Amino acid sequence: MTDTWLGIDIGGTSTRLMLMDNQRHWLNFHKIATASWSQSPEALTELAQRITQFLEQQPVNGVMLGLPGILSRDRQQVLSLPFIQRLDNQPVAAQLSERLGLPVAMDKDVNHLMLWDLLQLPLLPDSAVGLYLGTGMGNSLWLNRQFYHGEHGAAGELGHIPFGESNLPCPCGNHGCAETVTSGHWLSGWAAEHLPDIPLGEVFSVHRHHPALEAFVTRLAKVIAMEMNILDPDTLILGGGVLAMADFPQDALRQQIRQYLRPPITRSGLKIVFSAPGDQTGCRGACLAAQRHFSEGQ
Ligand SMILES: [Zn+2]
Repeated sequence: MTDTWLGIDIGGTSTRLMLMDNQRHWLNFHKIATASWSQSPEALTELAQRITQFLEQQPVNGVMLGLPGILSRDRQQVLSLPFIQRLDNQPVAAQLSERLGLPVAMDKDVNHLMLWDLLQLPLLPDSAVGLYLGTGMGNSLWLNRQFYHGEHGAAGELGHIPFGESNLPCPCGNHGCAETVTSGHWLSGWAAEHLPDIPLGEVFSVHRHHPALEAFVTRLAKVIAMEMNILDPDTLILGGGVLAMADFPQDALRQQIRQYLRPPITRSGLKIVFSAPGDQTGCRGACLAAQRHFSEGQ
């Protein structure tokens, strides 16, 4: 009998669903507005109804959720999900499982992007770091062939290291986090103030050599190089909407990251790969994670 897995990628704007069978055939990609279920006082009941409608009686073996928040180390509880705060400190996997009558597991969304990207590589590395730059700074750690979650579930929060002289407030509640000066959020704020007549998507095409944008790329390289110098992974995967913007200086970022690596061995040895962006990669990665989790007992 064919096994089928449901991957769900929950973002602030959209919730994406997709099925995958054991032969990795992809089926029924579907996107709904997150607000259509998340704003209900019974958000998980609403979500379960959407999932049931999506499945249309299709049997599935397991469901994997990807969430942009902090989860408990055992991946059973949501600890902090800023845009659906009523889920904080809830055993979301068990609650959704009960409503659906199906096994449900969950992980950080960025680990699903990373799993997808890892499985596109010619060989699965023993260690890799993913850095996905969108509104915030997503970070995924793949160490000794598994995702590293940390003692409290909060490993891989590179965006929240204290960095530089900035003291800007961060959505996490602290001030001066790296993310406040290295994220898409910083970039869109800067562009709105200094280049108000240029659409955000074109700022690198028109002003790639603006000193403030060059400084942005350098800050990013420094923050990423810190993690490389600590972990010394085989591969660094770089992705996310900011790095996929037209004419974003990927070569300059790659060169500067190398420049800040501890010479000589890591500077020449680290593989740096840019991820191909796509609307489906988060939920495809969730399907692959479901297959690993439920059929391999990970
Ligand atoms: Zn922070």
